Amino acid sequence: MDIRAQLSMNFHMDKCIGCHTCSVSCKNVWTTRRGAEYMWWNNVETKPGCGYPLTWEDQERYRGGWEVSGGSLRLKLLKGPGKIRTLANIFFQPNLPTIDDYYEPFTFDYQNLFNAPAGDDQPVARPKSLITGEFMEKIVLGPNWDDDMGGSPLYASNDPNLKGLSESQKELLTKFHKLFFFYLPRICNHCLNPACVASCPSGAIYKRGEDGIVLIDQDTCRAWRFCVSACPYKKPYYNWANGKSEKCIFCYPRTETGQANACAHACTGRIRSVGVLFYDADRIEEIAKTPDERLVEAMREILLDPCDPKVVEEAKRVGIDENWIKAAQNSPSYNLFKKWRIALPNHPEFRTLPMNFYIPPMSPILHNAKADAGGTFDPENMDFFHQIDKMRVPVRFLANLFGAGNEQVVIESLKRQMAARLYRRQQRFGDVAGGNSAVSQMLNSVGLTPNDCDEIYRLVSLATFQERFVIPETHREAQSTVDPRLMYEKRGTVGFGNKKKELIGRQW
Ligand code: SF4
Ligand code: SF4
Repeated sequence: MDIRAQLSMNFHMDKCIGCHTCSVSCKNVWTTRRGAEYMWWNNVETKPGCGYPLTWEDQERYRGGWEVSGGSLRLKLLKGPGKIRTLANIFFQPNLPTIDDYYEPFTFDYQNLFNAPAGDDQPVARPKSLITGEFMEKIVLGPNWDDDMGGSPLYASNDPNLKGLSESQKELLTKFHKLFFFYLPRICNHCLNPACVASCPSGAIYKRGEDGIVLIDQDTCRAWRFCVSACPYKKPYYNWANGKSEKCIFCYPRTETGQANACAHACTGRIRSVGVLFYDADRIEEIAKTPDERLVEAMREILLDPCDPKVVEEAKRVGIDENWIKAAQNSPSYNLFKKWRIALPNHPEFRTLPMNFYIPPMSPILHNAKADAGGTFDPENMDFFHQIDKMRVPVRFLANLFGAGNEQVVIESLKRQMAARLYRRQQRFGDVAGGNSAVSQMLNSVGLTPNDCDEIYRLVSLATFQERFVIPETHREAQSTVDPRLMYEKRGTVGFGNKKKELIGRQW
């Protein structure tokens, strides 16, 4: 067992109101610099929609992430033998998004509103490019251009996650009069098997041993931009002004002192929580090769139980600080993803083993349930699958987003959420038909206990700041596992089976 610690963020999608406060907080703290204007380390997308950059989820186009080929794991980017392909493409990357896939960052000529000479017409503030400084004819794209569908079903109908949906299901998601949409906040997933790290020819990207945060060493970055191509989530960005790539740093200067990340701290809907996970780094390659239908389960398996005495003993042996062990034992991430099984990773089929988790949206499923049960909540008369089939967001769509296509993991999450809500309803109002015995029957059928439901309710509804953000301070001086070079040993800079031993000796 090679035990490592990982910071991880969770998002409760039913609670996100799409206010973009998170994105603005992140931008104000990290990306107001020249060359970084178009970067949104945190962004919020409307789903269904094309996202940012446009259709980032379409790996036929971008070739991000990993694939299993001939029994081994390799970067999708590298079609041929790794090193030859790397050399062939080092000056030209055919799969990079262009600025037209992001947007040309702009401001407005506000001064004209004050300084324009008196005239017959009202002065206007014309848009100005933040790249060229020239006036722009018109603005044609922005980072949240299709927010709330942006007035057109066009974006929704081009969502790559519509794959496998029937025409009537697509219609549910794309016709305005039937429409239901939700928001998908995104940051870098600080993956266990990061394609960005594996693709970098300069060895500039590394995953920190002590907290799993993936960073780009700005001195070592040589602007090859392989990270941009290889990351299937398109979360590294190229800074055209200084010639370096940049990405979300999980606000490590804040987390190291026990503070919540800027995006999470600012979140208006209180949809986010942050926690520590322990994982077995020896199993990364094996887990990343798991077939799609078992991938989410395999991701749960790589996480170690922080209350298991053997895990605690091993954590202490490798020098993980006591406060990290305590934080892992109270981790919202562990509970939501592994213990209660209601949170899921985003696009696990990209095989980077992303370490942020999403509680998939339920609404308006309970409304349907209530209507069908004749105005009362009646678990005995409720057929879960029947209700879930009636969701306005089809399960197939959610499975494409959060289950590597496996609908069962999504259904399990929805059923558990639904059962926990009905349990609480019975506690609060006592109006569930069949009473307590019907509710306990329902809990048994989904494998939850009343205590689990109380804890879920506490975390997703009432939790204090300290309960949502269980972030231990980092004592670098006391850690013996801090060495990021070990992660090169695990993956190599061009992926598994291509380990660059010479990097092991370099100074950081
Ligand atoms: S989300 Fe992308 S940039 Fe972030 S660690 Fe994963 S592969 Fe790297
Ligand atoms: S601040 Fe919170 S509620 Fe608002 S868009 Fe961001 S994640 Fe959603």
